[in-house]
Amino acid sequence: MAKKMMASVVRDFAEPIQIEEVDIPEPGKGQVRVKIEASGICHTDIHAAHGDWPIKPKLPLIPGHEGVGIIEGVGKEVQGFKEGDRVVLPWLGYACGVCDYCNSGWETLCEQQLNTGYTIDGTHAEYALGYTKSIVKVPDNVNPLDAAPLTCAGVTTYKAVKISGARPANLVAIFGIGGLGHLALQYAKIAGATVVAVDLHDEKLELAKELGADYTVNASTHNPVEEIKKLGGADAAISLAVAPKAFEQAYQSLRRGGRIVFVALPADNHVQLPIFETVLNGIQVVGSIVGTRTDLEETMQLHALGRTKVIHETRHLHQVQKAFEEVEKAQAKARLVLQF
Ligand code: NAD
Ligand code: ZN
Ligand code: ZN
Repeated sequence: MAKKMMASVVRDFAEPIQIEEVDIPEPGKGQVRVKIEASGICHTDIHAAHGDWPIKPKLPLIPGHEGVGIIEGVGKEVQGFKEGDRVVLPWLGYACGVCDYCNSGWETLCEQQLNTGYTIDGTHAEYALGYTKSIVKVPDNVNPLDAAPLTCAGVTTYKAVKISGARPANLVAIFGIGGLGHLALQYAKIAGATVVAVDLHDEKLELAKELGADYTVNASTHNPVEEIKKLGGADAAISLAVAPKAFEQAYQSLRRGGRIVFVALPADNHVQLPIFETVLNGIQVVGSIVGTRTDLEETMQLHALGRTKVIHETRHLHQVQKAFEEVEKAQAKARLVLQF
C-alpha cells in the first residue's frame, strides 16, 4: 500500500479547501519527488481554488507553485539532480523543450506546458513531484522561506520589470504591494528606476517605503492617476492589483510613450481602455506570464547576492483556508508561506 501524506485539496470551487490524507506520489520518467519544506501562498492559488479563470484547473487539485524542498526520490532518466538537493517547484511545471517557443527562450508560452498547482498537483502538501526540466536548485545561502516567494512572486516580477523596459531615468508605478508587488518594487529599484507604489492599505505602503519605494499613493484616499501625473507620469506601470479598476488607473497614469505590463489576473477579466489615446500617445499594453527557468535562476542569484529582501510570515498547512482568507482581505504581510 502507498504511504500517505497530508495535503490541501480543492474538490469543489464553491467549498473551502480541505486538509486530507492522500497517497505520496511516485516520480515518473524525468521527475523527482520533493519533500516540501516551505510553500508560498500566491493569490493564483486562491483563483485556482475558486475556479476564477476562463481555463479551469484539474479537480481534485492540490494547489501551490512556490514549493521548496529536498529531493528524496528520483524517477527514470533524471540527470543533473540527486537525492538531497534543495530545489524549487515553480508554476511552469513542464514545457516541451522542442517547440518554437521553447527554443527561443519563451518556454513560458509553450502550448504543451503543465502548471504546478493547476493542471498538475502542486506543493501545498508534504510531498510533490517536479519535472527536472523545470525545477531549479536553491543556492546554498538562500533560506527556504525566502526561496518560496521568489519561486513565483519573485521570478514573475523580475520578468515583468524586464518587460517594462525600466531604466535609470524612468518613473515606474507599481500597482498592488502584495506578495508580487513587494518584490516588483525592489527589481524596479535594481533597474535604477524611481518607484511609486500604489495600494489601498497604509501598512502595505509603509512596507513599500521600507523596501525602497520613492513615493507611495494610497488609492483609497488619493487619486493615483493625479498623483502620478504630478510626478510627470509613469514611463512604465506594472499592474499587480487584483482589480480591473487598478489596471485602468495604471494605464491612465502613463506618460506618452509609456508601457503598461498586465500581470494580475482578477476574476473579472475585462478592462476598458481608450483606442484614441492609446494611438496618439503611443502607449504599449503588454502581458507578462511568470518567467523562464533562466529568469528563476537569476532571481535566486540576485537574492543570494543580498540584493532583495523577502518579507514573509509562516502558517501551518492546517491553517491554509484561513491563510487564503487573510490574503484575499489583504491582511497578510507581503507573502504567507506554509510550513509542514
Ligand atoms: P496579493 O493579494 O498578495 O497582492 C495584491 C495587492 O493588491 C494587495 O496588497 C492589495 O491590497 C492590492 N490591491 C487590491 N486592489 C487594489 C487597487 N484597486 N489598487 C491598488 N492596490 C490594490 O496578490 P499576489 O500574490 O501579489 O498576486 C497578484 C495577482 O497576480 C493575482 O491576480 C495573481 O493571480 C497574479 N499573478 C500573475 C502571475 C503572472 O505570471 N502573470 C504570476 C503570479 C501571480
Ligand atoms: Zn504564483
Ligand atoms: Zn514547448
